[in-house]
Amino acid sequence: MVKKLVLLVVGVLMAALFAGCGNDAPKEQASKKIQVVTSFNAMAEFTKAIGGDKVEVSTIIPDGVEPHDFELKPENMKQLATAQVFVYNGFGMEPWAQQAIDAAKNDKLVTVVATEGVEAIKNTDPEEIKEHGAEDPHAWLSLKNAKIEVKNIKEALVKVDPKNKDYYEKNYTEYVAKLDAMIKKYESEFAKAPHKNFVTGHAAFAYLCRDFGLEQNSVEDVFAEGEPNAAQLAELIEYAKENHVTTIFAEEMASPEVSKTLAQEVGAKVETIYTIESNEDDKTYLQRMDENLTKILASLQ
Ligand SMILES: [Zn+2]
Repeated sequence: MVKKLVLLVVGVLMAALFAGCGNDAPKEQASKKIQVVTSFNAMAEFTKAIGGDKVEVSTIIPDGVEPHDFELKPENMKQLATAQVFVYNGFGMEPWAQQAIDAAKNDKLVTVVATEGVEAIKNTDPEEIKEHGAEDPHAWLSLKNAKIEVKNIKEALVKVDPKNKDYYEKNYTEYVAKLDAMIKKYESEFAKAPHKNFVTGHAAFAYLCRDFGLEQNSVEDVFAEGEPNAAQLAELIEYAKENHVTTIFAEEMASPEVSKTLAQEVGAKVETIYTIESNEDDKTYLQRMDENLTKILASLQ
């Protein structure tokens, strides 16, 4: 009798244990995704494009926060303490990155500086160099640089998760093909465009200009600082008139009001342009670049 009861109890316990395992299985599988922390939206976009459903991506700089003067918070260190991969742009975009890595004390963390191998455009303003470093950080706004950035990310994912190498390689090859197709499409169009100059919110498009032989001018500087004074605004108006600028591009986070005033002064229209420093309208990197390039091209006719 006692023996039977013991067996019964053991049986019930075993059943409970197995049931428990059964319930835990999907959760366990979900946590097997590679945990990737990225610095800001464009880095998250590239990582998702390559990592697909094998990665879980979080972003340190919250949406809607101006990234050039972002300050690191204690919770960001926690994010990195449990991550497997940390992807950041480099070129001075994240002056806090090394401090965050050191504070995380995570020996297993694989760090990707996405711009490694990108040819930098140097800053010229001594004040900017002093405050932000020698390079213009906005490398991701070039489709050609994007090819290098996704390659660096792909290599890190393969290193951390070699059993899914083929999956990451396939996503990478497909993504690069899309980037190449977009480069090809716009290269010939921009070459034919009668004008080459455009005016935007902050000077974020130097690399895009290098890709397509264009020239930018802007309401704010490279690091989205310093709204123009009356004299600078007058200069911008003069520039816009001289260069047949018919569209002033406005960014969500860089003085859109000044862009509107400028447009009014020169009789230009205002168009949105994406810097991909934050989530904008829930659009992918490719969608936003395509829209940017279409609008810039239209403004140069
Ligand atoms: Zn910027």
